[in-house]
Amino acid sequence: MGGKRKKRTKPIRVRPKVPSTFECPRCGKVSINIKIKNGMANITCGACGLHAEIEVPPVFDNANAYGKFLDMYLEGEIEISDEENNQKEEEENYEDEGKSEELHQ
Ligand SMILES: [Zn+2]
Repeated sequence: MGGKRKKRTKPIRVRPKVPSTFECPRCGKVSINIKIKNGMANITCGACGLHAEIEVPPVFDNANAYGKFLDMYLEGEIEISDEENNQKEEEENYEDEGKSEELHQ
């Protein structure tokens, strides 16, 4: 009997790639870009223009920085600056006091 033993194949561990883009907590799109430089993580959303900078320890990679950013964002501890200045104009407090001053000419 030629006992051919099959070697158990070890499950190959695939190292999860560190994603380069992350989900934006504000607009929900996966377009957050993170660049780490000199202990500062530069976080930008390509979709809604959200931009933030946070301090990170040197051991942090993008995913770590994103985690910290999320925490801080949710806690409201982060300074978010918009690249686009989309100011909504909602002025519905426009009541007509003193009836129609319509100039009909
Ligand atoms: Zn966004």
